[in-house]
Amino acid sequence: MATKTFDAVVIGAGVGGYPAAIRLAQLGKKVALVEKETLGGVCLNWGCIPSKALIAAANLVDEIKGAAERGIVSGEPKVDVAKLREFKNGVVKKLTSGVGLLEKGNGVEVVKGTATFVSATAIDVEQNGERTRIEAQAFIVATGGRPVEIPGFAFDGKDVWSAKEAVDLPEVPKRLVCIGGGIIGMELGTVYAKLGAQVTFLEALPQILTGVDPEAVRFVQKNLRQRGVTVHVNAKAKGFEKKGGALAVKAEVDGKETTIECDKILVAVGFRPSPEGLGLEKIGVKIAPKGIEVDAQYRTSVPSVFAIGDVTGGPFLAHKASKEGEIAAEVIAGMKSARDWVAMPGGIFTDPEIGTVGLSEEEARALGHDPITGKFAFGALGRAIAIDHTDGFVKVIADRASKLILGVTVVGPEAADLIAEATLALEMGAYLEDVALTIHAHPTLPEAFMEACKVALGEPIHMLKPPERKKKGEQAAPARA
Ligand SMILES: Cc1cc2nc3c(=O)[nH]c(=O)nc-3n(C[C@H](O)[C@H](O)[C@H](O)COP(=O)(O)OP(=O)(O)OC[C@H]3O[C@@H](n4cnc5c(N)ncnc54)[C@H](O)[C@@H]3O)c2cc1C
Repeated sequence: MATKTFDAVVIGAGVGGYPAAIRLAQLGKKVALVEKETLGGVCLNWGCIPSKALIAAANLVDEIKGAAERGIVSGEPKVDVAKLREFKNGVVKKLTSGVGLLEKGNGVEVVKGTATFVSATAIDVEQNGERTRIEAQAFIVATGGRPVEIPGFAFDGKDVWSAKEAVDLPEVPKRLVCIGGGIIGMELGTVYAKLGAQVTFLEALPQILTGVDPEAVRFVQKNLRQRGVTVHVNAKAKGFEKKGGALAVKAEVDGKETTIECDKILVAVGFRPSPEGLGLEKIGVKIAPKGIEVDAQYRTSVPSVFAIGDVTGGPFLAHKASKEGEIAAEVIAGMKSARDWVAMPGGIFTDPEIGTVGLSEEEARALGHDPITGKFAFGALGRAIAIDHTDGFVKVIADRASKLILGVTVVGPEAADLIAEATLALEMGAYLEDVALTIHAHPTLPEAFMEACKVALGEPIHMLKPPERKKKGEQAAPARA
């Protein structure tokens, strides 16, 4: 068996692993990046990127349908599914081959195959029956996660899809039942609804998008309702039967047995880390039910082995995995880096989008703050009116005494992009005045963040001052000229 030696080896070339390899190389290390499938992992191949390509295309269908109101008359848009899939595949290819070029350009050796640990300082990589031993003083495990399966709905890629099949867009079924009203289910279910499927969501909890500000979620619910999507909360999917060509999903909705006929089922009830099969237990790496246990420098219970990204548990976010990969790489290179971020943003690409960062009002209160909030509706913002996307708001939560910004929720157009400014504000320790006094270009969507901070300070310009401590009855003034 051939043996190769490196300073450090990264296992898994997802958004956690591939930046880690680049960072290690930048810091002068001789690095190998081992990947058993395609560079880019879940995010680039069947997660973030292709799903956003489909969401953008589905939004375009919507825009075309709604264009007549703005005097643009065209026929009913038709979707060529094969062409759209080809476009999506092209997007993926461009980015995954870009990863290959980046690794090569940085001098990282990409090794194709499946890695298993044989000791704390060596792995075997197997491909097509051939094994290579790779030795190193440090390893970063970045092997990611996989969709959770539920009893009665084993993924078969035909009748029962996981996110992987749904993102591949094999077809647009006439009727789709989506089990799970979390972020991935909501994003993909909405794509299919916009492409013409009749979609029914089954969510076991009392709210879709659990954990997100219910005021923001209400806009998503309204949008789904308006496009004829059915959302059942407190609904437990029990199993399904095949009836002729169709499927009959059995569910308990609010305690009542119900059957929903459909053509395909998408199960999107969550993600789980997948550390199994790597031989980690054999070398003494501790694995908790939530994923591989790591410290603030991403070191596992075995000092030469680090772990980052989805394999260490949630939140299952691409940018979190990337940041962790960079930190682990720096630690291996002798730097004093550690997990020390203030703000971890989240983008939810529903309709409308949601962006979140920092604390909710309840979380702020639980941490001993007396929170104040400022909310500015897109319905009162010139730019939002001009682009005809007025549903939503920016809500800022701050500490009443100090005016330190603690959290921001945006629901509305480009919310996932708008949250970047709020993330910087939190990371820099900004106060309400810092944002309120910053000149924002007009007319732009980020003005809504500035306005929300002014509202929290009790100095709104483009809306009337909300009554003290009252949550409802906020009156938007006429739009900014
Ligand atoms: C449909 C969908 C949409 C999403 N959208 C978003 C989004 O908009 N924003 C966001 O932040 N997150 C999103 N996510 C989550 C995001 O994709 C993950 O958080 C991210 O991919 C985690 O990266 P990772 O590097 O930890 O793992 P992964 O991307 O899972 O990469 C792990 C890699 O390791 C490889 N591997 C595993 N075992 C071995 C082995 N033994 N040997 C060699 N290689 C191995 C795998 O083949 C894989 O390529 C989405 C996920 C899905 C499914």
